[in-house]
Amino acid sequence: MAQAVSMDVPVWCPASGDRHGVHWSDGTIVDHDPGAQVIDLPAGAFAVPGLIDGHLHLILGGLGLEMLDLSTCTSRAEVERRVRDRHAGLDAGRWLIAHGWNEDRWGGEQPTASWFDGLDDRHVVAWRMDHHACVVSRSVMARLDLSSTPDGGEIVRDGSGAPTGLLREAAAWHIAKPAIPAPSVDERRAALDAAVRHLHALGVTGVGSMEYGIDLQHVLAPRRDDLPLRMAVTLLDRDWPLDVTPGVTFEGGDRLWVVGYKSFVDGTLGSRTARMHEPYADEPSTRGLWTELAADGLLRDWAEHVLANGLSPSMHAIGDAAFTAALDALERDDRRIGRIEHAQTACRSDIARCADRIISMQPLHKADDAPSAPSRLGASRMDRFFRFRDFADAGARLVFGSDWPIVTCCPLAGMRAAITGIDRTGAIVAPEQSLTASEALLAYTLDAAKALRFPEGCGTLQHGAPADLTILDRDPRTADWVHAPPRVLMTVVAGEIVHRAI
Ligand SMILES: [Zn+2]
Repeated sequence: MAQAVSMDVPVWCPASGDRHGVHWSDGTIVDHDPGAQVIDLPAGAFAVPGLIDGHLHLILGGLGLEMLDLSTCTSRAEVERRVRDRHAGLDAGRWLIAHGWNEDRWGGEQPTASWFDGLDDRHVVAWRMDHHACVVSRSVMARLDLSSTPDGGEIVRDGSGAPTGLLREAAAWHIAKPAIPAPSVDERRAALDAAVRHLHALGVTGVGSMEYGIDLQHVLAPRRDDLPLRMAVTLLDRDWPLDVTPGVTFEGGDRLWVVGYKSFVDGTLGSRTARMHEPYADEPSTRGLWTELAADGLLRDWAEHVLANGLSPSMHAIGDAAFTAALDALERDDRRIGRIEHAQTACRSDIARCADRIISMQPLHKADDAPSAPSRLGASRMDRFFRFRDFADAGARLVFGSDWPIVTCCPLAGMRAAITGIDRTGAIVAPEQSLTASEALLAYTLDAAKALRFPEGCGTLQHGAPADLTILDRDPRTADWVHAPPRVLMTVVAGEIVHRAI
């Protein structure tokens, strides 16, 4: 392919404004080059800076492409049938790993080990769509020590006190997860490649990814120079005291770098473990959980330690009390480096504290959680739910992402949720919190690039910027996002066309 490329399309750039025509040479946006190869595009095609998913789990997502997907199951019978079908096609001795179930889709019945009976003792682990709970088969239960419940977790029990096979939060992560055979390094490397191909097809040129140091070392670092995607890594390693060595000594480049560390302040709304200021409307005995460092009162120390090492503390905070705690932990971060992830509920008094703060949200979580939110929160607290507009008006720097594999990493689907307020049932929820297409694009381009320390110019298409771009089939600002949202025609990373649908 020619080094110099030219496209005759309208361009949206958050730094240099609207223009016509985009040209690049050697991976960098340039002014028009008369010798450039011209790429013809269909009428209506429209260029935006390469879309960035600000929060996903790339390797987990790649591995998830291999897992049984239960996200569309609307009944127990359907879950059982899909698991049975997968079991029939799986080698003896292999674990059957599934994900994506959501009891809200079938009326709330909690899955138990009995759902997987009759599968020849196949080891089955099925993660809830938020990965904050899993249900395991009896053969897996027999391998687990369920005699004591870890802090911040729950071993769900039946009326007689026997475990049902459903484990929540720390019980899922610290009891079930370690028992699952880890994929080999080769399998993880293959997952990386599968994930990148998947993202290219969705128009994604860069990501903020949550990964473990061990994968940074063995899976990602060997690809630091030829990774066909830009990747800002937030490390999930969270032993305390924190060993920041991998973040400090890892020599990244303009494709792969470490941006920070992650900590969990609470759980999720779906499993009523998000930490709220007031009790859950549909379970008044609980206000949710503090998890990990927040449960130990160490959140602020941790955040300051990460900042002192020049990195970004990134805090999972979904409940309004967790959000308050995350803001408190960043009190000394006057450099606006720390990130609050999810921010699904926030009280009015905290919104005013968010000027210049990086608020990293996942619009499709709104679409998924909206149907159950009124029962969890009660009508009087629904104004605290997914306050995109309030955050934007308060001067927060919104960064949008997916949290893939929890939901699809299609940025256009996320944008649709942020722009229309549409939920997964098709209802429009809290449209007063919706954003304009330009605001949503900003959160998927320049503001994500800045928050995640992408190379200079990323998130724009101005002269001298890296040639990362996404070509859509129509202007996102005039598209009918409910009925005919834009589609991706082409994805370009550093001047290389990595995906084309035309
Ligand atoms: Zn996540």
